[in-house]
Amino acid sequence: MSTDSSTDEKTKVSHFIRNIVIADLSSGKHQSIKTRFPPEPNGYLHIGHAKAICLNFELAREFSGLTNLRFDDTNPAKEEEVYARAIEADIRWLGYQWDELCHASDYFERFYDYAVELITAGKAYVEELSADEMREYRGTLTEAGRPSPWRERPQEESLDLFARMRTGEFPDGAYVLRAKIDMASPNIKMRDPAIYRIRNIPHQRTGDAWHIYPMYDFAHCISDAIEGITHSLCTLEFEDHRPLYDWVLDNISIAAHPQQIEFARLNLDYTVMSKRRLKLLVDEGLVDGWDDPRMPTLAAMRRRGYPPQAIRNFAELIGVTKSESIIPLGVLENEVRNELNQTAPRAMGVLDPLKIVLLNFPEGETEWLEAARHPQDESMGKRKVPITREIYIERGDFMEEPVRKYFRLKPGGEVRLRNAFIIKFVELMKDENGEIVEIRCELDPQTRSGMPESNRRVKGTIHWVSAEHGVAAEVRLYDRLFNVENPLADKQRDFQEFINPDCLSKAQAIVEPSVFAGGENFQFERVGYFCFDSKDSTADKPVLNRTVSLRDSWAKRGQ
Ligand code: ATP
Ligand code: MG
Repeated sequence: MSTDSSTDEKTKVSHFIRNIVIADLSSGKHQSIKTRFPPEPNGYLHIGHAKAICLNFELAREFSGLTNLRFDDTNPAKEEEVYARAIEADIRWLGYQWDELCHASDYFERFYDYAVELITAGKAYVEELSADEMREYRGTLTEAGRPSPWRERPQEESLDLFARMRTGEFPDGAYVLRAKIDMASPNIKMRDPAIYRIRNIPHQRTGDAWHIYPMYDFAHCISDAIEGITHSLCTLEFEDHRPLYDWVLDNISIAAHPQQIEFARLNLDYTVMSKRRLKLLVDEGLVDGWDDPRMPTLAAMRRRGYPPQAIRNFAELIGVTKSESIIPLGVLENEVRNELNQTAPRAMGVLDPLKIVLLNFPEGETEWLEAARHPQDESMGKRKVPITREIYIERGDFMEEPVRKYFRLKPGGEVRLRNAFIIKFVELMKDENGEIVEIRCELDPQTRSGMPESNRRVKGTIHWVSAEHGVAAEVRLYDRLFNVENPLADKQRDFQEFINPDCLSKAQAIVEPSVFAGGENFQFERVGYFCFDSKDSTADKPVLNRTVSLRDSWAKRGQ
């Protein structure tokens, strides 16, 4: 159910969940499928969520099914409406539109009724052991649990207490409702799990109506069943919750029984991916908000200039399996690069400007050169690039004492100015500190476009920007947020200690005016892909984010 059909034409890579869907449709188990994406609105979505979103929406799209967005809003202590709105925006940005927008909180009354059903059937009871005592009774992996003294409490008594828990008669923690399953089960999740707890706090959507809230394992399966979800896809850590998912649905009067299927979560290196930890980075001011372009959130990736298509391609590329792995961040960046290489118009920008004076170019004049917006895609047309007597080149594109095989500008040397002509070094000017402030060159008019030597070859081509027409802009260069592959590996230290001190650097660049003509992303030739920062950039003070470099410098560093 996507608004964008661009991935439709691709041949789908199959995976085990897709095979289950195909089998269920061909056996007639289901006439059509329905999936859901069930975020808890307690933070912003990250790239891990994108994997789950793409999986659910793409499956439904491929098999003409439906996908719900369901807010799993059963823990009011941590949830906020701003997060819910941000989640909706991120899913739309990724290119998906849900069929129904649902909230677990809309089902509170039904959850309650099903809990009453369980109590009435002798399959749930109100517990009054403390949390610590419950833990002690629960046993361990090698030792069976013991039944609570309240396990055989009469049903009428549990019903009465449960009704009073609901209306707020008791403090938090005084009672919980437990499913009565099997205290000796080898699966600890099945040892009479709590299904309701008292929380005397208002809910962002139901206000003061409730003083008890259902636990995930009780609410999730029932929500799936109520909505008629056929395949309930979740990450591997829910594998041992599955017997409980099935138990609840088998023991209440609901006909539907969705199938829970687990897949491996996405892990990326050099970052962390849990809303709780990301929130810590935001709350401690270690990053500039959830959408700080260094964050692994979708909001950050959007702000940084990642095209949503690149994220969808990445999700497709990494596939869906049952084995955990850590994907190098470079794999995602490569998808961003591949996508932008095809779609981003070209321009020139100089990040560390060094002034060049073209001695034989008339003072006060501007010549408008023509250049392709894209080297392969002619449909993008041409752009006008102004050149003047004074231009800027990258400081790194000149060497006074060149190393061997240095093909850019050097004393006595020649170099081609990209989209223009060849220039020849004449002299250099230094200030009192010995720093080069200006290089004087002559252009070779025979190498202008249309002139006999326009194709004359020199070994180096460099980018440049007219000093008069170039626009000053702040550029923000991002690197890995953490300087270790797994910031959580060292249990003795806080992951925040591993933040890469060089993850953000800023420069004052001079950029070609054509970048202000519209379009979201562009490539500064030889430099990288950039976009305007949606938060901080203004017409007077443009701010550019480097989306991704042209090449993977981490691969080169042998990381
Ligand atoms: P976090 O720990 O980051 O808060 P979560 O699983 O608690 O993640 P939810 O809002 O409950 O966050 O997740 C919504 C859906 O996204 C769930 O179905 C969950 O399995 C899936 N999901 C979360 N993280 C990942 C991940 N890294 N890879 C794939 N799917 C994920
Ligand atoms: Mg969670």
